[in-house]
Amino acid sequence: MDGYAVRAADLAGASADSPKTLPLVGESRAGEAAPPALEAGQTLRIFTGAPLPAGADAVVMQEDTSREGDAVSFRLAPSADAHVRKRGEDLQAGAPILGPGTVIGPGEIGLLASQGHAALTVYRRPRVAILSTGDELRDISDPPRPGSIVNSNAYALAAQVEEAGGEPWILPIVPDVLDEVVAQVRAGLSADVLVTIGGVSVGDYDLVRKAFDAVGVEPQFWKVAMKPGKPLSFGVFGERLVVGLPGNPVSAMVTFEVFVRPGIRRMLGDPAPFRASAEVALAAAHSHKTGRTELARARLVRDEQGQLIAHLHARQGSGNLTSVSGANALVILPPDQASFSAGDKLRALLLGDPRGSEWSPFAHGSNG
Ligand code: AMP
Ligand code: MG
Repeated sequence: MDGYAVRAADLAGASADSPKTLPLVGESRAGEAAPPALEAGQTLRIFTGAPLPAGADAVVMQEDTSREGDAVSFRLAPSADAHVRKRGEDLQAGAPILGPGTVIGPGEIGLLASQGHAALTVYRRPRVAILSTGDELRDISDPPRPGSIVNSNAYALAAQVEEAGGEPWILPIVPDVLDEVVAQVRAGLSADVLVTIGGVSVGDYDLVRKAFDAVGVEPQFWKVAMKPGKPLSFGVFGERLVVGLPGNPVSAMVTFEVFVRPGIRRMLGDPAPFRASAEVALAAAHSHKTGRTELARARLVRDEQGQLIAHLHARQGSGNLTSVSGANALVILPPDQASFSAGDKLRALLLGDPRGSEWSPFAHGSNG
């Protein structure tokens, strides 16, 4: 604080009506190594960031003083330690700064820098190979041909991998030809995680599981009672995770969320690798087919009472990418209930910031 360093005891009883005056004997500036010491009954000019002189125990703000030459009068009696930041007040010597698994964000970077840590040991980002399969697929830069569709999943999943903290590696598209799928699966197994897209269902040209078998992937499970995403195939290859995601764009993204992202987070040392969930209230009535747990894409907005309101996207089909764009939650519709009313409370996985756009910490500020 810009003001005067004092011994609080010297100013006992000082007030606006009966100020006390002390002689000014020097100053302490920011960056000073050893400011002059303070004797009883003296004061020193001091500036924000300067070391407290030996002998002083408080600082009085400039605004609570007046000065004539070398005489400073004080209009208040400070408490000991007033406007003094103690050494080690933020972090004691020897105290751990950050624990393992901490995500290094702006605050952590500031903290580490303040303690002089220019380098630290972190988890390597897992490399995640993304292999799209299908005769119909074309690269985004290739000209359209009849019957073809853009390999949109590779880009959506690469973005999901990055968001999860992994390093995406998009492999060349493979057609539905077993030898070619096998060759690229083999290539992809040099990554920490191999994610394939499409070709895991029961069609004649669904070759991914055959390719997994051919290269020695150990199957863990195939098919999940989840919508979207039924034909998911999950295996391991040594330490590596090998996940065959269904090809429908929304199925691929939602199954990635549930089955791949936590694996990536775990590889990054995250002690809480799963998405947070919250109770939400449905904005409108909704019905779904029973039998599988459905993860419905929704936009959450917090109402005035603080309740999260879930607006389900109108088109929940597994090909409707518009339902993923702008969604910040997956609302869990239980498998045994067919219809839901407005206001029904359900759980949702939080994908992003649920505050809504209206919220601002400054909305009710007093100083404009
Ligand atoms: P599949 O799981 O191979 O039977 O594919 C299911 C649906 O998803 C089909 O309509 C595919 O054309 C589509 N699909 C498969 N892979 C991709 C991809 N990489 N990008 C976009 N759509 C895809
Ligand atoms: Mg296919």
